Amino acid sequence: MRGLTISAHGGLERLELRDDLPEPSLGAETDVRVRVRAAALNHLDLFVVGGLPNVRIAPPWIIGSDAMGTIDAVGDAVSGLAAGDQVLVNPGLSDRSCEYCLAGEQPLCPRFGVLGEHVPGTMAELIVVPAANVLPVAADADPLEGAAFTLSTLTAWRMLVSRARVMAGEHVLIWGIGGGVALACLQICKLLGAYVTVTSRSDEKLARALALGADASLNSRGVDVGKEMRARTGKRGVDVVVDSVGDATWSQSLGALGRRGRLVTCGGTAGPMVTTDVRRLFWNQWSILGSTMGNDAEFAAVVEHFRHGRLRPTVDRVYDLHDARAAFERMEGGQQFGKLVVRMAP
Ligand SMILES: [Zn+2]
Repeated sequence: MRGLTISAHGGLERLELRDDLPEPSLGAETDVRVRVRAAALNHLDLFVVGGLPNVRIAPPWIIGSDAMGTIDAVGDAVSGLAAGDQVLVNPGLSDRSCEYCLAGEQPLCPRFGVLGEHVPGTMAELIVVPAANVLPVAADADPLEGAAFTLSTLTAWRMLVSRARVMAGEHVLIWGIGGGVALACLQICKLLGAYVTVTSRSDEKLARALALGADASLNSRGVDVGKEMRARTGKRGVDVVVDSVGDATWSQSLGALGRRGRLVTCGGTAGPMVTTDVRRLFWNQWSILGSTMGNDAEFAAVVEHFRHGRLRPTVDRVYDLHDARAAFERMEGGQQFGKLVVRMAP
């Protein structure tokens, strides 16, 4: 079986396409095996290649968290799915038995893991996952869009709908438009009827975001985004800020936030340690919300929007598996606008 692997941590030169990987077989009667048609990159893959604390890989380690494919085998205890079904794969894995899982909050599971990070990933011809991690889509759904959809959209959905509870008419500020999660946040905000300001340091990316429905744009290069947003809103500030940058943007995000504002984050790509003035936090009655991945109900909700074409990922470029390293180089350089997709089969 072919797959994109690493056998040691380091730079992108560690990526290795292999054609001698063993085909995975069903590990439990609740598993399904999926023939992957397309997989997509996430920033997480760069962290996996570079090495994450407390995460150990067994070489050759298949990377990748997102996939769409065709069911190829189902375990004896699986119902409602059959060989030949087209499915989207939820990359979040949980034990399905702890108090959080039983309450339907799988991302809080103490044993939560992600395909490609804690177990072998999706950039291979075949993957085995629990049946609970796949949902069917139409037979003619585009596998390139399907692969680009899940992790970003699921993450964005939980951040905005479940955590920040964005309402119609609210003003949402989204940092760094161009990444998969930020673009999914923009689409979801428009679906919810929010007013959206996006930031980027690239005028080209801002123009593309406006074409996708953003209401306002702000080039953050050399600008205090907090002060600028207060000026633009007559000192009121915005209702919600999506900030997964971290140290470099945090104080500006708080500066932009109005009374009863919510700052929601799913990462700290530019530095994890941030400073918050607690006096402003309590006086303005802010909420600082963490979020990661999504639960089964949130997965079902975003897949339903995918089926109806209401949420569609922006695909930046598509690569063949043998050329996948070029996709990683493009992501490492931050050049992409939307998702980078790897086509597994011609
Ligand atoms: Zn659990």
